[in-house]
Amino acid sequence: MIIKISPTATNATLNNLNQWFAEQDLEVRKVELEDQILFVTSSKWKGDTSYLNSIEGVESIVDTGTEYQLCTRKFQEQNTVIDLGDEIVFGRGCTVMMAGPCAVESEDQVMRTAEFLRTKFDIKVFRAGAFKPRTSPYTFQGLADEGLRLLEKVRENFGMKIITEVKDTTHLNAVADVADIIQIGTKSMYNFSLLNLCGQLKQLIVLKRGFMTTIKEFLQAADFILSSGNSKVILCERGIRTFEPQTRFCLDVCSAALLKELSHLPIVLDPSHAMGIAAQVPLVAQSAAALGVDGLLIETHPNPANAKSDKEQALSFVQFSQMVPSLDKICTAVGRRLIA
Ligand code: PEP
Ligand code: MN
Repeated sequence: MIIKISPTATNATLNNLNQWFAEQDLEVRKVELEDQILFVTSSKWKGDTSYLNSIEGVESIVDTGTEYQLCTRKFQEQNTVIDLGDEIVFGRGCTVMMAGPCAVESEDQVMRTAEFLRTKFDIKVFRAGAFKPRTSPYTFQGLADEGLRLLEKVRENFGMKIITEVKDTTHLNAVADVADIIQIGTKSMYNFSLLNLCGQLKQLIVLKRGFMTTIKEFLQAADFILSSGNSKVILCERGIRTFEPQTRFCLDVCSAALLKELSHLPIVLDPSHAMGIAAQVPLVAQSAAALGVDGLLIETHPNPANAKSDKEQALSFVQFSQMVPSLDKICTAVGRRLIA
């Protein structure tokens, strides 16, 4: 249940509310989102709300009927639109291409990739991780702070926006100082302290769905960020684990289709991590584009065979170049514009 309070509500109103919450023994989260003041309680509570309606200063009460609440269209019917400038708009008919290598490896590697993406396709958002959440402790873990410095250089040299991932709370401030968009990876989706802290930032957050997460848990994770005060959240489908070992994951297009109805938040798809095999990534990207989503995350590398992480799925520049025109056409066919 979401209780919306008038911005001019008096202390008496707040006292009345708090007293009522205490009488009902209700857990309540006070949320300040954009210019709204909200009290959000678990929707499992099914008591009588007639008293609430009678309190002056209570503007509206929304019963979403679900445990994810602020991200739903029942709370906000119209799309959340996030405009980063330079034509980068999520949630309003564009499909924004975000591309780059899995990890920042060296100055030469990121500069060559950024130059290719920016000069050949005018791609405006550069992706690369400096803090890599690797499954094995014995593989490349990312350049950490040095990687962030190199991402700053990419922005300076090519005027691209930077999306980069945060693994945990220890380096969140460092990442937030550099990133235009902060990515929370599939394995960190359940890090609730991280979600709460990202909710206190102003930056746009791309939240990836955990690979064994239900749609409900995914949306509840989004609600952690929203309820901590950050309205700029994008949902990312990046593949879930199934019984099938021959593809890396399985891109859940059904979920993406449903999320469009359930949530007002923009949705982006990551064909690279879902497919895991470079040769097939363009086909999966085409199906993702056909779904009419707000963005795509694609991995590309100047020399995929030598990539330090996710090399099997990294597109060569030739593969990337062959893919883009088809995505452009598909986006147009479904009434969208590819921002690349
Ligand atoms: C990545 O984007 O490189 C990454 C590690 O993503 P995910 O968290 O989806 O595996
Ligand atoms: Mn990767």
